[in-house]
Amino acid sequence: MSDAVNVKENLEAVRERIRRACERSGRSADSVTLVAVSKTKPVELLMEAYDAGVRDFGENKVQEMLSKMEVMPKDIRWHLIGHLQTNKVKQVVGKAHIIHSVDSVKLAEMISKESVKQGIITRILMEINIAGEESKFGITPENAPETALAIARLPGLELRGLMCVPPYVDISEKNRTFFCDLHNILVDIKEKTVHNIEGFGLTGFTELSMGMSGDFETAVEEGADYVRVGSSIFGERDYH
Ligand SMILES: *Cc1c(COP(=O)(O)O)cnc(C)c1O
Repeated sequence: MSDAVNVKENLEAVRERIRRACERSGRSADSVTLVAVSKTKPVELLMEAYDAGVRDFGENKVQEMLSKMEVMPKDIRWHLIGHLQTNKVKQVVGKAHIIHSVDSVKLAEMISKESVKQGIITRILMEINIAGEESKFGITPENAPETALAIARLPGLELRGLMCVPPYVDISEKNRTFFCDLHNILVDIKEKTVHNIEGFGLTGFTELSMGMSGDFETAVEEGADYVRVGSSIFGERDYH
């Protein structure tokens, strides 16, 4: 490669920006998990990140995640962050550390069924279409509380919080309102369910997955627990 990316250097810069965002917002730096989004990137680059200490990798396609998993070290936590088709559920349950992109009750039911079958608990986040974009997956903010309750009732699942993919922006600040909205939806769901016996499945419902290369610092300031950063670590992608 002529213009090789320096993954280690990029990582250090991203980590430093996360540290500063934590400082600004009075959070401890280790309260944020950096998920290195490695989709479309070759295993060699992932290994550079691994050698620089990364143990959380994000992929958006099941097949790609599984084939990288086969050749990468076993102590990696794989985060599935892309839309999951119901016919791929069997392949991913028991493999992904956490599925960030659960966008329907039907999908949650399939994951639940397969988890029970395997005798495991699968960690999931519910994806919210926070900006109401036609082109995006996710549950509408209006339907979020009832959907969370429906999902929380299912066995074999641990619904840990919410995830969003707001519009691409040139200035991080422009997405602050969406991150703030996602945080508020989480709080709202918790309040709605705290006095509700059916809400018992939501005790660990505390996590926010938000922020990408263009806006992760703002997301951290608004309470992100996971930031999903790809191109700022691995360089631009040729496609998706
Ligand atoms: C690709 C992707 C990311 C990372 O995007 P970058 O802008 O490269 O940091 C984060 N989240 C999801 C859901 C993605 O598909």
